[in-house]
Order: sequence, then C-alpha cells, then structure tokens
Amino acid sequence: MLGLMQNWPLTVDRILDHANSAFPNREVATRAIEDGQLKRTTYAQIAARARQVTNALRERSIAMGDRVATLAWNTDRHLEAWYGAMGMGAVLHTLNPRLFPEQIAWIVNHAEDKIIFFDVTFTAIVEKIAPLLKTVQLYVAFTDRANLPQSSLPMIAYEDFIAGQSTEARWGGFDENTACGLCYTSGTTGDPKGVLYSHRSNVLHAMAANQTDVFGCGARDVVMPIVPMFHANAWAIAFVAPMCGAKLVMPGAKLDGQSVYELLEGEKVTFTAAVPTVWQGLLGFLREHNLKPTTLKRVAIGGSAIPETVLRAFEEDYGVEVIHAWGMTEMSPIGTTGKLLPDHYAQDHEAQIKAKMKQGRVPFTVEMKIVDDEGKLMPHDGKAFGRLQVRGPSVARAYFKNAGAKNERGECLETCGFFDTGDVATIDPLGIMQITDRAKDVIKSGGEWISSIDIENIAMGAEGVANAAVIGVAHPKWDERPLLVIQPKPGASPSKEAILKFLEGKIAKWWTPDDVQFVDAIPLGATGKINKLALREQFRDYKLPSAQAAE
Ligand code: AMP
Repeated sequence: MLGLMQNWPLTVDRILDHANSAFPNREVATRAIEDGQLKRTTYAQIAARARQVTNALRERSIAMGDRVATLAWNTDRHLEAWYGAMGMGAVLHTLNPRLFPEQIAWIVNHAEDKIIFFDVTFTAIVEKIAPLLKTVQLYVAFTDRANLPQSSLPMIAYEDFIAGQSTEARWGGFDENTACGLCYTSGTTGDPKGVLYSHRSNVLHAMAANQTDVFGCGARDVVMPIVPMFHANAWAIAFVAPMCGAKLVMPGAKLDGQSVYELLEGEKVTFTAAVPTVWQGLLGFLREHNLKPTTLKRVAIGGSAIPETVLRAFEEDYGVEVIHAWGMTEMSPIGTTGKLLPDHYAQDHEAQIKAKMKQGRVPFTVEMKIVDDEGKLMPHDGKAFGRLQVRGPSVARAYFKNAGAKNERGECLETCGFFDTGDVATIDPLGIMQITDRAKDVIKSGGEWISSIDIENIAMGAEGVANAAVIGVAHPKWDERPLLVIQPKPGASPSKEAILKFLEGKIAKWWTPDDVQFVDAIPLGATGKINKLALREQFRDYKLPSAQAAE
C-alpha cells in the first residue's frame, strides 16, 4: 500500500523559490571581484536574475543534462548561474581554479562542458586552456561590459548575456534523481574523478547539513561561506542559507585575514565555514592587531584535521563555537561533525577539547563503519583503527563516465553497498569518529600503523611552528619510519631537539619521528590541504639517519 501524500520532487530550484517567497528581501552581500567593494542584492533579485540565466542558456540551446561550468569565486552572480542552470535541469559543473590549467582542461573535456562562466581574475587561465577545449562554445565573464577583459576568445559579459531576458522561466518539473551538479575530486592518484550529484541528493544533504547538531542555521543567521562553491558545493551553504532565510555574505576573491575580518565585522556574520589554512590567516591577523570577532557565534572547520591551536583560539580566546567537520566530495560533502554529546558536557574542559579534536558523529542520512583489510567489522572502542566506509542518499555510488573507477585500495567504488572513503579511523563507544590517516599516508612501521595526522596535530602546537607534515620514509629494518617536516613561523627558527622534546609524552615513544626537516613552505594542494604526494616527491632521495645507521 502506498501513502497518500502529494508528490513533491526534491529539486533544488524549490530552495531558491522558497527563499524568494518566504524571505524575498533577505540580503545577499558580495565583495565584488572587479573593485573589492560591497554589492548588495536580495533573494528575490537573485531568483529573478537566475531565471534570466535559464532563459539565456535556453536561447543558446543548452538543454537538460548539458554541463555548464563555472570557474569562479563565491559571488551573487555565481549563485545566479548556479540556480539558473540547475533549475532548468542542466548540470552545474564547478571548476577548481587552483588546479593546474592542463588539469582543468582535462576535466572540462571529460565533462563535455558547453559554456564556461568565469571571474575576470581567471581570464589568463581561460585563455591558456581554451585552445585545448573540445566542447566549449561560449565563455561568459562574470562582469559587465565596462569590465570585460580584452580577449580574442568568443567571450561575452554576464550582464549582456542575461540582459533583456525574461525573469519568468519554467523550473523543475523533472524527476528528483535528475543530475544537478558535477564536481571533480582532487585526484591525488590517477585522473580526476567526477562526482555527479542529483537534485534529490543535494536537497537531502542540505537538510541534513542544517540539522541543529550540524550547522544549525536559521533566519537570524548571517552566513559567510568562505569555503568556495568549487570545493564540494561550499559544503551545502549555497543551499542551506536560502533554505532557512539566512543572510548570505559572499567573500569574492579576497580570503586573507584582514579581508575576512572586515566582512565578519562589517556584515555581522554569525556563522562561517572554511578549511584550517584560512583560519590560520584570520587568527594571525587578529593577534597581530589585537582584535576580536564580535558577532561570530559558530565556525565550521573541515577539509583537513583541525589544528588544536585553531580550536583553542576560537573557543577559549574568542568564545566562538567550533564545528569540526569531516567529509569528502563524494559525500556531498558532509560526513560527520564534532558537536558534543551530553556525556561530554559532564566532562571537564580539557576532555571536551579532546573530543572536539575528533572528526565527530554522523548526522541522519549518513551511516558509517570501520573494517579491517578483510572487510571484518572493527570494534568501536576508540582504539582500533580501520578503513572508514560510508553510505547514504548523498554518497556517490559511481563516478561520472567512469563507473569502474577504483579507489586507492584498487576496489570498485561500491564495496557491499558502502563507499570506501580511503580514510583510516577509530570510532569510540559514543560513536565519535576520529580520522587517523589517509589509507595511503599511514606510516607502516614494523607491521604496525602510525598516524601521520596525530603527530602533525601535536607538532603544530610547538613553539615557532607554522605548519607540520609527517610522511613515511623507507627504512631497511622497519619498512617505513616517520619524518616530520616543519614550516617555521616567519622569523622563528625552532630546533629539531625542541620539537622532539615537545612531542615527548604526547605520542607513543615508537611513533617519535626519526628526523625533523625544515622547509620554507609545506606544499598545499588545490583545496588548501597538505599535498603529501608533492612532499614525498620532495624528499624522494632523502635518507633517514636511522636508516643509514641500520644499513
Ligand atoms: P575532498 O573530497 O577533496 O574534500 O577530500 C576529502 C578528504 O579530506 C577526506 O577523505 C579526508 O581525508 C580529508 N578530510 C576532510 N575533512 C577532514 C577532517 N576534518 N579531518 C581530517 N581529514 C579530513
């Protein structure tokens, strides 16, 4: 027997239509790309202009299922193109401008994008890749005619692209499983892989992401997604804010400490989200100028493990609640968040900080488990670490045009209905998950696993350390031993001895790195995470003193 409720497909056009009818005058403020000035609009205007985008796309023969790419920062125009394409059933494909141009070109060709919307700051990238692109018919610069860059490409200003188009357009009306968005994973091994979100997966994920113990935003919030829309859908914020009527602050191209601080204060931001490196920039600026955020209540930090110094600075110095988030592009992206449970509130502050350093627990719609190499379930005792596998309605079940793609273990994407995340984790008796490593970054020493992330987190707290990374280096006796690579703070010169002394007692003795090396800059990948592949390459010919001694 079927239920007798209305059929209301979960398509994302309904999110902006909801904002338009329930919160038409709620503001969307953007730091303009052209001049860095603040520009103000509303959900009603965004909804009208998004429909103009739809009409302009239809005029250019873009149809359902066609891929429409953006190479752009978080702005009002990006939001309009996002909903304009998704609303009509086209697939909005966010490109990551931090990738190498050749990688971007490969991705565009693989996705068969027909149009690229781009910010003028990325004109040089577009010009460089254009000769390599096989399917792109038109380049639309997110600007007006006066600011249109000189170029020989078939290029049009966004304002001209939508000018004269009707603000009425048919949206939705298709199956909720229709493809909606496309985002390629950073691809540290092999070619990048496309994650193809559906309308249903995005709507359900946005609702899951805004549960009270996840982002918990409401109409009184002022939300600033610093995490770019090209980094896994800005972690759902481009859907969450219009869904709940929060004011949106789009930071554009300027993500340095001072620019972020100006927007936090000027726009009275209450909730924001970004990877740890952004927060290190902001915290450095605050300390240097003896400033405090005065309206900020919650900050989501994810994409890589949160350094303890960042957690403590927000929570202890500024009274801002940190929501530690773990996820991945394949999970839309939210997998867990670190909001505390009643049991934690019965514990002291230090125990709570320790709990918040963990990646957290699953919201409704995500299931997770840890398994050993044979796929056997591991205990949830907070000690045993195994491969983290997940499933849910917003988890990828195959990659775009690459159904047979293998994960890092050489398995197909689906393992018994679960997605193998490539992460290694523990789960404690309260259900709190802690990432101990990427499967490929774990250091295998004498048959036992050493967590590179644990050591990095602790080393980050040592005097004079700006960034820390641990990689496994070949060792004749132990297979691999850890090497700690340190990027000192400007002007600081911490010693190897001081850093190793700092680690003493904080990690198991046999986890102690065999050596410490200092570098000017630890290489970061396209989404701001430590690029271990590049680091391993950098230290390819390096020999541990202990290895030389053992030979
Ligand atoms: P991406 O799909 O590029 O966002 O990368 C996802 C990967 O980032 C995950 O599989 C983790 O390895 C890592 N990651 C994301 N969030 C966290 C976190 N809070 N702590 C540790 N690692 C994280």
